[in-house]
Amino acid sequence: MHKASKLSGFYKLSPEKRLKIVRELAGLSKEEAELLRKTGALELKQANRMIENVIGTTELPLGVATNFLINNRDYLIPMAIEEPSVVAAASNAAKMARSGGGFFTESTPPIMVGQIQLTDVKNPKKAREKILKAKKRILAKANEQDPILVKLGGGAKDIEVRVLTTHLGPMTIIHLLIDVRDAMGANVINTMCEAVAPLIEELTGGRVFLRIVSNLATYRLARVKAVFTKEALGGEEVVDGILQAYAFAAADPYRCATHNKGVMNGIIAVALATANDTRALEAGAHTYAAMGGAYKPLTHWERTVEGNLSGRIELPVAVGTIGGATAVHPVAKICRKILGVQSARELGEVMATVGLAQNLAAMRALATVGIQAGHMKLHARNIATTAGAKGELIDKVAARLVEERKIRLDRAKEILVELTRKK
Ligand code: NAD
Repeated sequence: MHKASKLSGFYKLSPEKRLKIVRELAGLSKEEAELLRKTGALELKQANRMIENVIGTTELPLGVATNFLINNRDYLIPMAIEEPSVVAAASNAAKMARSGGGFFTESTPPIMVGQIQLTDVKNPKKAREKILKAKKRILAKANEQDPILVKLGGGAKDIEVRVLTTHLGPMTIIHLLIDVRDAMGANVINTMCEAVAPLIEELTGGRVFLRIVSNLATYRLARVKAVFTKEALGGEEVVDGILQAYAFAAADPYRCATHNKGVMNGIIAVALATANDTRALEAGAHTYAAMGGAYKPLTHWERTVEGNLSGRIELPVAVGTIGGATAVHPVAKICRKILGVQSARELGEVMATVGLAQNLAAMRALATVGIQAGHMKLHARNIATTAGAKGELIDKVAARLVEERKIRLDRAKEILVELTRKK
């Protein structure tokens, strides 16, 4: 247990001073504190401007997925992730997709929803009419907030009004539909929602509470499709197995959660590499998966008349190539250069592609040799490190674990003792 966590004025201190306090309270060694302070590309000063109470930075491995052919263009895809196998699986699936000409994408314009919650109106239907009648005025007020966005062709474009039944009575929910161009958009949207709220109150005599972006970005969808030939997949039986896996996910939320988690393995790794908001993507994707009233796969798979496997994905992708941390984090900027994407829309399509590829790779592994064969081979190195192996011993211990098919910590410790003695 820590000695204290009520640290008044902590936020006002420098990262160094904060670290000193945390070091003392958590009993960190000098070396541990040094590791936290030791920054990579993201300097402490920069990090300190990004979030609150900074004491250091943390790192993730950054890999590059290969083989991706998207709309007849080759892409190298940076992925930041701590989980072994994900980058290899994506690259492998992308290689197999080439057998059917690669991936083909499309997307809707970057329109996001901002919500304004109006309460205390006597007649919600009448309030709805009044709001819709004043649409031009409301949109103009919203657009005053961001002349740059408007100049770029974005801005508030339309309004929807819904009357919602809640356990506290009816509410009138106004949706501002905002084209956010190359931004993720949350800040722009929140600013616009807050700016128009007084006007909504004036028009309706009601009371506004929440004014905030919706992470269910149903107007900002990316769609991808690909055909994988049965030969590239390993034969008809593999296609059968994948279709069995898909049917299972479509029928069962327990399986479907893991099916969609596999999709998000790919999407979130690209989001982390490009400093996008991973929580926004997760929230949007999983809610979208449940839009029909039951939780369903984000992907769809079927057999073509030729006996090949055809897959597609559709999901909301609220991502930016500008704004938030995307243009601040030095590594994110380089990752965008590696990707070579020109717009947020293109980035969203690439992310959805990686999601589809990841899903294919996971289902193929699950329906054939099982996921552990590949996964544990890579994980063996983590186990070896956890057992205390250092330097060249890590690979040596890992190799023995794989050879013995016993990728376990207890065995790793035994092997390490044995190898150290030999040394
Ligand atoms: P932002 O406000 O940093 O940048 C967007 C601004 O950049 C626009 O308003 C525009 O003026 C300008 N701009 C310049 N060139 C542009 C272009 N080509 N396209 C679009 N805009 C351009 O960022 P944001 O995207 O509005 O907000 C994203 C941040 O908000 C993320 O860090 C996210 O984590 C955070 N956030 C998320 C939520 C949520 O998801 N619920 C809520 C609050 C904040």
